[in-house]
Amino acid sequence: MKACPRCILNSEIVKHIEFDEKSGLCNFCINYDNLVEKIGDEKQRSKWIADKIAEIKHYGKGKKFDCILGVSGGVDSTYLAYWCKKNELRPLIVHFDNGWNSELAVQNIQNICSKLDFDLQTIVINWDEFKELQLAYLRSGVIDMEVLTDHAIAATITQIASKHKIKYLLSGFNIATEAIMPSEWVYDKLDWENIKDIYDKYGNDKPLKTFPHLTFKNKILNYWFFKTELIQVLNYINYNKADAKKIITSELNWRDYGGKHYESIFTKFYQAYILPQKFKVDKRYAHLSNLICSKQITKEEAVKELELPLYNSQNDLQSEKRYVLKKLTMTEEEFDAIMKRSPQSHHNFKTEKEKWNRYFKIIKLLKFNFK
Ligand SMILES: [Zn+2]
Repeated sequence: MKACPRCILNSEIVKHIEFDEKSGLCNFCINYDNLVEKIGDEKQRSKWIADKIAEIKHYGKGKKFDCILGVSGGVDSTYLAYWCKKNELRPLIVHFDNGWNSELAVQNIQNICSKLDFDLQTIVINWDEFKELQLAYLRSGVIDMEVLTDHAIAATITQIASKHKIKYLLSGFNIATEAIMPSEWVYDKLDWENIKDIYDKYGNDKPLKTFPHLTFKNKILNYWFFKTELIQVLNYINYNKADAKKIITSELNWRDYGGKHYESIFTKFYQAYILPQKFKVDKRYAHLSNLICSKQITKEEAVKELELPLYNSQNDLQSEKRYVLKKLTMTEEEFDAIMKRSPQSHHNFKTEKEKWNRYFKIIKLLKFNFK
């Protein structure tokens, strides 16, 4: 086993990890450093974001909203809503409800919007369809079950942006806490062909009618004509999660869930049970490594955190498992059998990869001809 001298990743945890010959650092740490370098030093970053705020305000003159902010109820997006108010931006807050949000998340979001006096638009998914999609993903044995929610969120936000003609989309994504994720643990969130094919092979016979999605054509049109701009604000503002948590707790009465992404009951069960049991993946390794890179915790603290169990007790696990299976209308026998089956790659299904290859070939040709 080969281990990174900085973070807690190693060749047993991540199959396709690589190490730099000189420094010994893993490719995730090196990639992290490159991303940080790319956004510039503190002075460059604060200038960039100050200019961007001015640009958004200028663009939004006379409009009801000047940007869109998707909020999950977690720390990052909640802090971003707070940041918008401080900087006098006027976001339309969009919350996507896939049926799994904990009551506390819903309370947190409503509370934040009323405290900050922001408009909230909640999109509730067609549960029957979404449930069938989740069942298809479970039965197929592909690793990234979160593709469904992430894809639907991206599609919904794009649709709302085009309806209200809003150009700027604020994102809670940030290098300090989310840049490290081995690609073998996740799949392309925007690949609609892949979702459709997994559903065709493992879902029921009913065609999908309402699931928000972005086809290949949608993505191309959006890029060339609507030109929405995604702004990863937290990368430019010295974001520290622990401080952010303190601020939103005291200023907005935000209440803690006790774990990353635990605002959704399904996400919690997926990360704390399905992923480690079936796929031998514990995403905490990536999250904690990221925090080590951004110097928010030490390696020793990360190792200590890993020793904590994913569930407080067997009772907690069993009651959550019962809840999830009841909601998905799946028997425990079927679920346990699925957990024992070998995983299957997303690449065993249709993907948009070929279409993108052809598209980039054409773009390259056109560029060459117009030179
Ligand atoms: Zn590393």
